[in-house]
Amino acid sequence: MGPHKPIAGREFYRQVYALLADASPLAGDCGELCHKACCTLESPESRQLGIYLLPGEETMFTGHEDWLVWEEQRAEHYDFPSSWHGPVFFVHCTSTCPRPQRPMQCRTFPLAPHYLPGGTLTLIWETMPLPYVCPLVKDKWPLRQDFILALGRAWQLLTQEPLIRDLVQWDSRHRYRQGDPVQIVLVIPEVGA
Ligand code: SF4
Ligand code: SF4
Repeated sequence: MGPHKPIAGREFYRQVYALLADASPLAGDCGELCHKACCTLESPESRQLGIYLLPGEETMFTGHEDWLVWEEQRAEHYDFPSSWHGPVFFVHCTSTCPRPQRPMQCRTFPLAPHYLPGGTLTLIWETMPLPYVCPLVKDKWPLRQDFILALGRAWQLLTQEPLIRDLVQWDSRHRYRQGDPVQIVLVIPEVGA
């Protein structure tokens, strides 16, 4: 993708996915609270809903998964950092996924990575407007500590990739521009700290 060769490839994402293999926000299945609202497999709007893969994350998929529909877009035509050029992949889930194959943006929900103005990386409650109600976000359910820590470690690794760091910085600035209040769940230490 773009003029920079992404450092993020299959091995990188295997490491990240492995960190989150057993991590889930609640001890039980939070999908039972809301009939899996975030999957929205059967809603009429489901075609507009989906997940952007991170740069290089497409290497984790064959492109022929029967539970995914792919849309290839150009980064420069959408709201992405200026360092992003070329294809970006937007995927829609059409049936229940094999859990170990969930894309990163699904794994991180209901938390999101966020840079504070001084540059500290944090995990916050997702602020993005959603076309469904996630009870975890709405009521700020206490999330499992192992989920929070594993996710912090995953974003610590992911933001070593400059294109991903640019994306998180871009989204963070966007939140501040919108005046979205952020609720910090975890301060993520620098790598090696
Ligand atoms: S993350 Fe939220 S919307 Fe998604 S299944 Fe869990 S409770 Fe439902
Ligand atoms: S990857 Fe799985 S859990 Fe995530 S939105 Fe798609 S079907 Fe739902």
